Order: sequence, then C-alpha cells, then structure tokens
Amino acid sequence: MSTQSLVVITGASSGIGEATARTLSAAGHPLLLLARRLDRLEALGLPNTLCRQVDVTDGAAVSAAIAEAEAVYGPVDCLVNNAGVMLLGLADEQDPAEWKTMFDVNVMGMLNGIHAVLAPMKARKHGTVINISSIAGRKTFPNHAAYCGTKFAVHAITENIREEVADDNVRFITIAPGAVETELLSHTTNAAIKDGYEEWKEGMGGVIAPQDIANAISYAYHQPQHLCIREIVLAATRQQ
Ligand code: NDP
Repeated sequence: MSTQSLVVITGASSGIGEATARTLSAAGHPLLLLARRLDRLEALGLPNTLCRQVDVTDGAAVSAAIAEAEAVYGPVDCLVNNAGVMLLGLADEQDPAEWKTMFDVNVMGMLNGIHAVLAPMKARKHGTVINISSIAGRKTFPNHAAYCGTKFAVHAITENIREEVADDNVRFITIAPGAVETELLSHTTNAAIKDGYEEWKEGMGGVIAPQDIANAISYAYHQPQHLCIREIVLAATRQQ
C-alpha cells in the first residue's frame, strides 16, 4: 500500500462513506467515489478524485466506473464497500420490496464491487477489500430481521473470501459499527420504529460519529500488507 494508491468508496455521498473519503483523501489517496447523488459527491471537492453516479446494484456500471478511474490513477488498491440501506420493519407487516432493496444494495452491491476488483488484485498479489457490516451482522435486534440478514451475509461473505484469497496476499476486512449518527435511519418508513430507535440512541447518551468509523477503516487499511486486521467492532461504550 502506498498513499498514492487508488481507493474506491461506495456510498460516499453521506455518513460513513463521506467521512472515509475525506480521511483517505487527506492521507493522499486518489479516490473513486460512487453513489446515486452525484452532487453530494462533487460537493466534497476532494483533489485527485473521480465522482460517478452509480447505483451499486448495477454491476456493469460499477465495473465501468472502476475501469475509468484505473485509466487515470492506476490499479485499485482498496475497495471500501460501504453503500447500504437500513429499512427497519416488522416481519409480518413490512413491504417485501424493502427486503429486496436491502439485499440488492447491501449484499449484491457489495458482491458487484468485489467482482470488479478481485481478479486483478489476485493477479497483482496485492489489494484490500473492506466491507462495512454492522453489529447487526453479529447479533439480532428487534425489527431488524432482513437488515440483520444482509449484515450477517456481509460478515460471512467477507470471511469466506478472506480465506479464499489469503494466499494471493489480498486482504478482506470486516468493519462492524454499532449505531452511528448518519442518514441511515431516515429511510425507514415505519414512524413508530424510527421513534423507538431515536429513543434507544438517546438512552445511551448518544452514538458514535462517522469519523470514528473512518478512523478505523484508515487504521486497518494502512497496516502493512502482510498484516490483515480481520474485523473491527466498534460502538458507543454504553451501547449494549
Ligand atoms: P447513510 O445513509 O448516511 O449513507 C449510505 C450511503 O449509501 C449513501 O452515500 C448512499 O448514497 C449510499 N447508497 C444507498 N443505496 C445506494 C445504491 N443503490 N447505490 C449506491 N449507493 C447507495 O448511512 P451510513 O453512512 O450510516 O451507512 C454506511 C454503511 O454503514 C451502510 O452499509 C450501513 O449499513 C453501515 N452501518 C451504519 C450504521 C449506522 O448506525 N449508521 C451502523 C452499522 C453499519 P446515495 O443515496 O447518494 O446513493
């Protein structure tokens, strides 16, 4: 890893992805930033950065944007699969379309990114993929059934591929945050569940910030390539 190496960050238009983009840019990395809200990516105004309006569920669009960035900045050294949605709901009431959105973005979107970068990383015998899971990928919570399902999948897929490519000197890293103050909850359509979640956050005296996660991502990535931080779990001290 050199700080001149290209990093791709999905979902960089807000929250954890935005903080990670600022942090890795400040460390000197050229970046490819992907999200649907292009104006939010461009408003970051980061140097040596290509911003592309890409929905991560569109694998061809993910690959095309990566090829475009590689033509400018060289091979991708790190992919941060961060794009995600959390639509909380009761299993008997929730619109199945919400379950599909979460699996499409959180699981298939992550796999689309991996598919675009993994073969070249294996060939170069160098590279890092960082997948943003959640504590909801290690334990279950009320109203989280499908979301937890996607994040348990993120944990499983990350660890499975880590073992598969370890001998190719490619690192797979899981970052598992607890509650973080971002736009994530705002997309949940059930008002009562949303209110309950806000009360839960207040009850623990507030939650951690996107920058806390960006720092963990940067720490894990910037270890020497022979050292793989397999997983970081971080949350507010008072979160149960
Ligand atoms: P935000 O809602 O602030 O950010 C989510 C990002 O994902 C946005 O940039 C959004 O961009 C992007 N995104 C959503 N759907 C798509 C899509 N189809 N294609 C491309 N980009 C997409 O939430 P967070 O920063 O909190 O979330 C980032 C990650 O962290 C997620 O994977 C989330 O599950 C995980 N996480 C968050 C926690 C929290 O408490 N906040 C706790 C644990 C994990 P746009 O809308 O412009 O496309």
